[in-house]
Amino acid sequence: MRLAQRLLLHSLAIIAVLVVSVVVIIDNQLHSNITEETTRTLAGEARLLALQWRLGINADSLADAAGAAVGDRVTFIDSTGHVVGDSEFDGPALERLQNHSDRPEVISARRNGSGSIRRMSPSTGEERVYVAVSAPLGVARVSVTTRTIEALFDRARNGVIAAGLISFVVAAILALLFARSVSRPITELSEVARSIAAGKGRRPPPLSAPGEVGDLSDAIYRLAEQLEGRISALAAEQSVLTALVETLNEGVLAVSRAGEVVRINETGRRLLSVDRPLPFPLDFLPRETTLRNAISLALAGTRTEPEEVLIGGNTMSLTARPLVDGGAVVALFDVTPIRQLEAVRRDFVANVSHELRTPLTVVSGFAETLRDPEIPAQRRTEFVEAIYSNTQRMERIVDELLDLSRIESGHWRPRLESVSITEVANDVLARVRERAEKKEIALRVSIASGAGSITADRTALEQILLNLVENALRYTGPKGSIVIAATRQNGGIAVSVTDTGSGIPAEHLPRIFERFYRVDTGRSREAGGTGLGLAIVKHLVEAHNGWVSAESAVAAGTTITMFFPLTSEMQS
Ligand code: ADP
Repeated sequence: MRLAQRLLLHSLAIIAVLVVSVVVIIDNQLHSNITEETTRTLAGEARLLALQWRLGINADSLADAAGAAVGDRVTFIDSTGHVVGDSEFDGPALERLQNHSDRPEVISARRNGSGSIRRMSPSTGEERVYVAVSAPLGVARVSVTTRTIEALFDRARNGVIAAGLISFVVAAILALLFARSVSRPITELSEVARSIAAGKGRRPPPLSAPGEVGDLSDAIYRLAEQLEGRISALAAEQSVLTALVETLNEGVLAVSRAGEVVRINETGRRLLSVDRPLPFPLDFLPRETTLRNAISLALAGTRTEPEEVLIGGNTMSLTARPLVDGGAVVALFDVTPIRQLEAVRRDFVANVSHELRTPLTVVSGFAETLRDPEIPAQRRTEFVEAIYSNTQRMERIVDELLDLSRIESGHWRPRLESVSITEVANDVLARVRERAEKKEIALRVSIASGAGSITADRTALEQILLNLVENALRYTGPKGSIVIAATRQNGGIAVSVTDTGSGIPAEHLPRIFERFYRVDTGRSREAGGTGLGLAIVKHLVEAHNGWVSAESAVAAGTTITMFFPLTSEMQS
């Protein structure tokens, strides 16, 4: 039930009790007042009649006249108790009336001068109020039926009830207005409080509320202001925190006490491959024992040491720690690149050692043999030749490695100048012509118009082309051909070296630019390759902001293409 209705009902109940009590009290009071007043009036009338009843006056005529005048029953009783006059009985009826000496009011009047009583009248058969006073000739008595008094009383009571009803209605209206005026500000306040609780922001306070309700309204208003301030401060803090967590390179996720993921940043989603909206149960995280154990331990209040886990091909370092309120936070750091680098470094060291070990073994073997003075001069020369060629090979490997590390370290910068591709290509071909002629390999340069010159480091370009042409020579059989070509392409110049050699199987193509990668290790070594040529080519071209690609078909030939962009920087 609403406040206004409750107030109204209570007020109405109080008013009703009050009105009924007042009516009952007034009713009682009225009853005794009317009875008293009637008795007093009757006594006055009786005394007046007593004075008029004298000797020589016909008592019955006086009784009749007086009865008609006052409207009450008038009776004159002589000193023997005989009724000598009565306004309601005449002639024989009067004669037949009993002796009234035993009537209580008559007895009392004779004894005390007056007497009154309410009793049944044996003469008229009605209940009456009698008042008798002693008179010189006997007793004068006036009586009235109680019906008359009751009628009087009823009229008065009706008035009282009407007044009670009117006051009840007026009081009810006032109570209604009062209930409304009290409940309205409270209702408005409760709406304000509800909207604050629902986070719908602040509402202006009800201005009309007086007294304590007004104070309450002010207090709620201030509370709402403070709350709003705190909420916006919290929201600001929250967004800073969210931004912070989102920018972390670490994957971070928070698990609630109930075992639900309630927060996860982008890195975390990527590392664990989850895209479910928050919150979601732990079941949606990868089924990885270390991860699950760490979360369970942290939820139980134990902080875990960093552990490495492999999830979805990524290696990550995982730490879980408990939260103050019983949840847990898991931090994931992707160590895949570090581990890959470590693997590359390990491979590299192993490769270098292996590459140097083979010629070193040869050198040390021959040197060992040469210590024997019995060896014929002819063999001795052969051995020395072998030692020399292997030393040269080691020298080349070390030189190329030094070149590579110089370029890779970023210290090397191309010295840009306008270089004629035709010139460089012809120079390079000139250096290998002798070897080519031996294998009957045709050498050709094909430069398209507009692709005659590029802005590049001349020495680097020479090294690139020499490497490629030497590869082509190495892997092309007799009667083949090698072409150095240059064409203008969108935004740059493409330089390529094409041969008609053995080609490279498709599965090896993506890896031929890696250090020490060879399709056929034995053949490459035999042909004097180090496995570093294409890696150097790739790095040199990339230092020019370009890129390399390879196309090949087994037994048909290979084309290695370098693209040099014509950026303004490159052209300057
Ligand atoms: P290498 O010194 O062994 O030639 P590179 O880095 O220059 O090393 O080349 C890597 C590998 O790619 C070679 O071992 C060879 O198997 C393959 N390759 C490179 N160029 C050619 C080519 N023109 N024709 C066929 N195979 C080639």
